[in-house]
Amino acid sequence: MHYRALGLTGMNVSLLSYGASPLGGVFRATDDSEGIRAVRTALDLGINYLDTSPYYGATKSETVLGRALQGVPREAYYIATKVGQYEGGVFDFSAARAIRSFEESCKRLGVDYIDVLQCHDIEFADLNQIINETLPALITLRDAGRIGHVGITGLPLNIFTRTIDRVPAGTIDTVLSFCRYGLNDTALGSVVQYLKENNVGIINASPTGMGLLSERGVPSWHPAPPAMISGAKRAVDYCRAIGADITKLAIQFATSHPQIATTLVGTANPDNIRKNVGYLHEPIDFELMAKVIEILKPIQNHNFTRGRPENHDSIIG
Ligand code: NAD
Repeated sequence: MHYRALGLTGMNVSLLSYGASPLGGVFRATDDSEGIRAVRTALDLGINYLDTSPYYGATKSETVLGRALQGVPREAYYIATKVGQYEGGVFDFSAARAIRSFEESCKRLGVDYIDVLQCHDIEFADLNQIINETLPALITLRDAGRIGHVGITGLPLNIFTRTIDRVPAGTIDTVLSFCRYGLNDTALGSVVQYLKENNVGIINASPTGMGLLSERGVPSWHPAPPAMISGAKRAVDYCRAIGADITKLAIQFATSHPQIATTLVGTANPDNIRKNVGYLHEPIDFELMAKVIEILKPIQNHNFTRGRPENHDSIIG
C-alpha cells in the first residue's frame, strides 16, 4: 500500500481508503459479521483511513464500524465522520447539534477522538451558517484536542472554493469530494491546484460513482439522471462482454491523480476490499481504459448536481 500526506494534517493516508456507508446497508441489506470482516481485511491490507457518518444507515454504519474496531489499537487507523446530516436526510448544521452529534459518534465508534470531523454535504446548507456557526463549533473541538482536523464534504465543487475563500487560512484542513474524479467525471481535477495552494488535503470518494460503474448498478436513491445511468451502463456492458472488470478500471483510474491523497471505496464484502487493494498493484490496461473513456464520452463531466439552488454547479448536458 502507498501512503500520501493529506494536506498539512500530518496524516499519511493510504492511497485507497475504506468507505463505511455500505455497513449501513445503503446499497443492499448487509450481514454485519461480513461487514466487520471487511473492515478488518481493509486494515490488514494496510488501509488506514476509515470514513463514516451518522447519516449512513441511520447510525448503523458507525455502530457496525465501532464493533469492527473493538480491540484494534487506536493508532492503527484514522477515523473520519461527519456532522449535519441525519436519518431521513434531515439537515441540522447548528453548533449545538454538531457538538452533540460528535459525542454520539464517539460513543458509537468506541473512540474519544476523531481524526477528521466534516460538515456533511454542505450544498444542502446555507453556507453562511457553515461559515459562521458549524465550522467555529468544529474548531472549538479541534482547539480542545477532541478532534484532529476539520473538513467539508459535498457533490458540487463550487461549495468548496466559496467556503474556503471566506474563512481564515487553516480553518479547513480537508475536503471530501465524491463522484467527481473517476472514469466518467474528472471535474475535481480543476480545483486540485486551488486546494493545494490553500493547504487543503483532498479526499476523493466513490470511484465507481456510487455504483454507476459497477455490475450491481446504482441504488434507487442515486441522484444521477437516467441518461447518465444508461450512459454508464454502456461501459459496464462493454466490459462484461469482453470479460473485463469495470470496477477494477474505475479504481485504477480514480487513484491515479498524483495530488489526490486518497480515494474512498465502499464495500461490506471482504473479498471486494481484497480485490480493490489488489487492483492498485495490477498493471493498468491503458488501451481498455481509453476505450471505456470513449464509450463514456457522451456523459463525460455531465455530472449531476444537488442541494440548494444557490449551491448548484452548472451542469453540462
Ligand atoms: P463507491 O463508488 O465506492 O461504490 C460502492 C459500491 O461499489 C458498492 O455497491 C460496493 O458493493 C461496490 N463495490 C466495491 N468494490 C467492488 C468490487 N470489487 N466489485 C464489485 N463491486 C464493488 O461509492 P461509495 O461507497 O458511495 O463511496 C465510498 C465511500 O466514500 C462511502 O462509503 C463514504 O464513506 C464516502 N462518501 C462520502 C460522501 C459524502 O461525504 N458526502 C459521499 C459519497 C461517498
